[in-house]
Amino acid sequence: MPPYLHYGHRTNAGERTLGLTTVTELFRVEGLWAAPTDPLGDGPTEPILRGVDLHVEAGEVHAIMGPNGSGKSTLATSLMASPEYVVTAGSIHFRGDDVTAWPTDERAKAGMFLAFQYPQEIPGVSSIQFLRQALSARKGLDLSVLELRVAAMEWMERLGMDSSFVDRYLNEGFSGGEKKRNEIMQLAILEPTLAILDETDSGLDIDALRIVAKGLHEVRADRPEMGVLLITHYQRLLDELAPDHIHVMIGGQIVASGGMEIAERLERDGYEWFRDADLGARA
Ligand code: ADP
Ligand code: MG
Repeated sequence: MPPYLHYGHRTNAGERTLGLTTVTELFRVEGLWAAPTDPLGDGPTEPILRGVDLHVEAGEVHAIMGPNGSGKSTLATSLMASPEYVVTAGSIHFRGDDVTAWPTDERAKAGMFLAFQYPQEIPGVSSIQFLRQALSARKGLDLSVLELRVAAMEWMERLGMDSSFVDRYLNEGFSGGEKKRNEIMQLAILEPTLAILDETDSGLDIDALRIVAKGLHEVRADRPEMGVLLITHYQRLLDELAPDHIHVMIGGQIVASGGMEIAERLERDGYEWFRDADLGARA
């Protein structure tokens, strides 16, 4: 059993002294099962997540790869307590707290962030207004629009964004690349401790991938302790980001985990290799 699973004396959020060593655990998912919420309440629904284990330390970048329909978005949204899914077994720990029963806003306040796969268009709310409310909810900070605009401008410059951006209505008529930039700006300004990014399944071109990669590099340069869980089926993004750990998800389970050798295997043999493999025998 890895040392972080031992509960020793707790010093503060996420820190436990284990004899003479102190470990800081950022994020741990254990045996997570989740099924769609049954809107009619007439019986259990078929599970989508079937026992997911994950462990992310501060500063690590983890990529979860998987074919369409493997449960990646279900995992991302379940980690943020989407009402669309019900967790039927397992637990989620964030910085020393069991957050499995926490609602979305509490998780966000504690420092978890999810960039939505299909960002919502919110007509009538500008990006800067949205950011201001999100920041107030996340950190209890009430920045003036002017202060926030200055911070946003700095980030936009770093991210190569057009400055008219913040005054447009949130995601309305945004291109795929603009939505991604907007997400990265939210990430930069909200300063989460754990960023979960769910990549869109279609319509993301190489430029948009670069934006995500460059944006993450910029944000991590400022905040190297931030953990990242990047969900994608783009091989290309792995080359740009060089994650510390790569996981392959198939059928609601993580069937393989490793380093860049996983990416190479995927490149060479595709998901079929992982799907067909008796992984124990072929490892
Ligand atoms: P991925 O993001 O890996 O493409 P998803 O998590 O979106 O996969 O979906 C996994 C599977 O679960 C798919 O077969 C999808 O159709 C199904 N699914 C996802 N959400 C729901 C839901 N709310 N109700 C019923 N089935 C769902
Ligand atoms: Mg998805």
